[in-house]
This record gives sequence, structure tokens and C-alpha cells, in this order.
Amino acid sequence: MDEKMQERIDRIRDEIAQAAASCGRDVREITLMAVSKTHPWDAVMDGYAAGLRLFGENRVQEVEAKFPPFEERPDGMQVRLIGHLQSNKVKKIVPLVDGIDSLDSLKLAHLISDCSMRNGTRMPVLLEYNTSAEDAKSGFESEHDLFDMLDHIEELPGIVVRGLMTVGPLGGDERTIRNAFSLLRTVRDRCKARYPSLDFSTLSMGMSGDFAWAIREGSTLVRIGTRLFGARDYTT
Ligand SMILES: *Cc1c(COP(=O)(O)O)cnc(C)c1O
Repeated sequence: MDEKMQERIDRIRDEIAQAAASCGRDVREITLMAVSKTHPWDAVMDGYAAGLRLFGENRVQEVEAKFPPFEERPDGMQVRLIGHLQSNKVKKIVPLVDGIDSLDSLKLAHLISDCSMRNGTRMPVLLEYNTSAEDAKSGFESEHDLFDMLDHIEELPGIVVRGLMTVGPLGGDERTIRNAFSLLRTVRDRCKARYPSLDFSTLSMGMSGDFAWAIREGSTLVRIGTRLFGARDYTT
């Protein structure tokens, strides 16, 4: 058991609880996702031993290389894709993950739905929304595009919508970042009103540097990498 890992998890959980308390929210509404990208399987298992269950990865190849097949994963471990998914990788990723949190086009929705149906499953998805108008980011670019996808939901029996996801502005002051999170919450409320039969209960927003603000803006899922696993090394 890695003591340091346990300490880091305890500290994050404390900060999540404090942020929830500061705005009168129930801490049980907020799920911690451990973003294990670039970190080895040993780090995932250290986290698992210390109580982490939900992991996020942003590259298809990395999920494939790092995680054992479903049947061989430890009890209760879940892995979801949080990074941009290319069409030609859909077939590969569908049998490897418990959810796709970065669905960002109608085209991709069709591919994931068809592939999941062929696998005899239905894939839980979050719809990624670009709240910071940064071109480099993925995600639906407008409410119009998002609604256009949701208008086709009946043609997509292989996906199950669970909510929305965003990556906040990288850098920027508290106001800029909170505005982006607040926008996602507003978009979620409009989706709920427009599609009352669908589930938009998950609002995935907040990372190591901004999760306390995200919780104050209504986040139900925070995605924490650096604060749990340390800095990422992209050079190796
Ligand atoms: C890497 C990543 C995170 C985690 O970022 P940290 O700042 O290390 O906590 C969260 N969400 C997404 C989509 C990511 O790609």
C-alpha cells in the first residue's frame, strides 16, 4: 500500500467535501475520477488499493496497452475515455471501456451506437461541450449542434446519455473559469427542459487546478490527474 497515494486521495476528498459544504451541496453527489493517463498500471493499482475505482484515460492505444481485458480487471474498477475519439478507433475502444465521456459529434454517436449494438451492449456517454471557445479544444461548438445530435437520439439505441462534460479554459482567472462551468450548467438545464426523457444527471467538470470552483458551479464528477499521480512526463 502506497501511503503517499492514500494521503493525496484523502486530501482531495477533504477539498471536495469543503467545496461542497461551502455551497450547501451534499458531497455524495460528487464522484472522483482518477485521470491515470501517462502513468503506468502500477500507479492505477496503487490508487485502486487506496480506494479509487473510476479511472479516466484520453488515448485509445493507452487504454489498450495499460488495462487488462474486462474479465481480468479488479472488482469494481471502471475506465472511461475522456479524450477526443477518432472515428477509426471506435471499434477498438468500445469493448475496452465502461463509458465514453468525450462524445462530440453526431457522426461519432452513430458509430459508437452501431458498434455497441453489435457488441450486445449500450455505451454510457457524456456529451462534451466546448465552453471556452478555444479552437484547439474538442466538444460540440454550439447548442445548435448539441441539440441536433440529441434530436437524433431515437436512431442511436446503442448509446445512453448520462450528462455533459467540459474542459475549462486552461489558464485564466477565477471568473473566466467559473463562467465556463456556469455555461455548462446552463446548457445542461436547457437540455433537461428540452429532452425530459433523457438523463443529464452527470456534469463532468473540474480538474486538479479548478475542481473546487467547478463544484461550486454544480459539478458532479471531477477529473483529477496531477494532484493524485504527480506531474505527467510526455518525453518518454
Ligand atoms: C488530463 C485531463 C484531466 C486531468 O488533468 P489534471 O490537471 O492533471 O488534473 C482531466 N480531464 C481531461 C479531459 C484530461 O485530458
